Amino acid sequence: MSMQTTPLLNQIRQERQQWFNWKNIKPIYDTLQTLQNIQFPQYQIILDDCITIKSDQPLPTTDYNQLLHIAQKLIPWRKGPFEIFDIKIDSEWQSFIKYNLIKNYFNLKDKIVADVGCNNGYYMFRMLKQHPKKIVGFDPSALFNLQFNFINHFIKSNIVFELLGIEHIEFYEHKFDVIFLLGVLYHRSDPYKSLKSIYKSLNKEGELIVDSFIIEGDDEVCLFPKDRYSLIPNIYFIPT
Ligand code: SAH
Repeated sequence: MSMQTTPLLNQIRQERQQWFNWKNIKPIYDTLQTLQNIQFPQYQIILDDCITIKSDQPLPTTDYNQLLHIAQKLIPWRKGPFEIFDIKIDSEWQSFIKYNLIKNYFNLKDKIVADVGCNNGYYMFRMLKQHPKKIVGFDPSALFNLQFNFINHFIKSNIVFELLGIEHIEFYEHKFDVIFLLGVLYHRSDPYKSLKSIYKSLNKEGELIVDSFIIEGDDEVCLFPKDRYSLIPNIYFIPT
């Protein structure tokens, strides 16, 4: 930890708390606060392909309607799916496909973990099953932070969500044993700098788990798409 960087990070954190006052975010933030008023019956947490909160007791209709209202306010849900008291939250991406492909290649027991570009935390919730020591998610999106807060209201994990980006991780208060960088690198205009910065953020023997696009071939070239690539906007370097 550096003596100078922590106050700077705190300043950025403070500034970004103001994002919840933005005119498109504030109504969502306020609606989410109403969750505090609902008394939920005993429930079970299932950290499976569909992250599920389930109870034998149905919710009273008014509470169910309020919960539905909050979940709808939080749209668009990019990553998921989730199911909360019988409310099915489907998502643009079926995130279990990627997670299930990679989950057998790491062991997070007692590890300090970062998920960079964590979105609403779908992967982080699934990681809880492996009992890491600490999980920190980085994502500079106020909406995704609120989605995370919504789900975590039920899961009550001690996952830390930071409204910070990959550009801040090397200045973070501590380093990490395992860093996930999934679906992010091709969005960076400076992928090489990003990887160097991740390297600085790893503990000795630390591991990076990264997924990104590649193009076929062995030539020393990168594709720099003019427009969308694989229907996705803001894509920069795609190497062989
Ligand atoms: N890791 C997830 C989500 C990838 S989508 C997956 O693999 O499915 C890319 C995510 O990166 C979005 O949630 C977006 O909000 C986030 N993001 C945008 N700018 C970022 C930045 N500077 N640093 C880290 N994440 C960022």
